[in-house]
Amino acid sequence: MHATARKGARGNTMLNGWAGTSATQIAEAAFIASVLETKQLRADISGKELQVPGFDEALLSLAEKLPGKLHDELTFTAISIGKLQKKLSRLLYDKTYEKLLRQADERGQARLREISQQYAGAWLSVTPIKALNLVMEPRDYRVCLRTWLGLPVHEINPAYPPACPACKKALLDKWGDHSVVCAKHCDRISKHDSVRDIIKCYLSYGALSSRIVQRETPGLIVGKKDKPADIFVSNWHGGKSMAFDITIVSPMQKKLRARAAKAAGVAAEEGEISKIAKCEDKCRKAGFDFTPLAFSTYGGYGEEAKSVLKYIICMAADRLGLTRSAVATRIRQKISLAIMKHNANMILTRGYACTA
Ligand SMILES: [Zn+2]
Repeated sequence: MHATARKGARGNTMLNGWAGTSATQIAEAAFIASVLETKQLRADISGKELQVPGFDEALLSLAEKLPGKLHDELTFTAISIGKLQKKLSRLLYDKTYEKLLRQADERGQARLREISQQYAGAWLSVTPIKALNLVMEPRDYRVCLRTWLGLPVHEINPAYPPACPACKKALLDKWGDHSVVCAKHCDRISKHDSVRDIIKCYLSYGALSSRIVQRETPGLIVGKKDKPADIFVSNWHGGKSMAFDITIVSPMQKKLRARAAKAAGVAAEEGEISKIAKCEDKCRKAGFDFTPLAFSTYGGYGEEAKSVLKYIICMAADRLGLTRSAVATRIRQKISLAIMKHNANMILTRGYACTA
């Protein structure tokens, strides 16, 4: 594995890695937190304050790695002991992330920002359960990891890129950026529909009366075949009717990549803006509200999708008698896994796959 990819792999799943965290990376933080957290216990047992060998050295070493930050965290310990290791580890992960960002080229920066989006890494913490459709084939998993870590997925000569075997129009690139958005063979629609179906399913769990909108008549708007939404909910929050349209946007497309390298969440935000421009007026005129549910091809959420999903999770959890966090984890894992699995499939069916 390339050294930069290896460093990226060592990040927390909440940030940008795949939880292959090196023990040595957070050993000092763990040691310091353990010593501080057991200080009172040691004093109670021995009747005096004991010095722990190596503590001062570890503190100095960590202070060098986190200049200017360690003092605040140790002061914070006085009021919130128990969370110190997590906070120190997070500072170390953030430092690694910032370093990777500085070293990356434009595409690498866009990738790092996208994979660090909230909920994007949910597929990494899935417990593979076949009955719940939470399983990824090993070859798909390998492709997803390569995508995540910025490793090539198509084994091609960049100087002579072949045409995409599906659409025969675009050229393949080694990162799979075209493959995951290629409109041929219905697999892009299939990716979109799989996310739509997961959301529809959880709407039903929450007793929110919904239907999937088809292009055929009667459609969504009376007398028109126009389809400005994917799901129509007749009893949405506040007694309103609501139309949702789902979109999955790649941050690697030409018009977005430079922006995506500089700011987080650009792809999903762009998806929301373009759907609102296209659909909101039509829906309002037809007498119901409209909300775009936008996702990035790496699984990040638009702000509207975050807030809509939170409401659906609350409704579903209450009706199912489950905790909100259990329902939230499951739906977020399902969405993330669906997007990543379809990406992998689109890459593999277009050939030239890197198999290592
Ligand atoms: Zn294509």
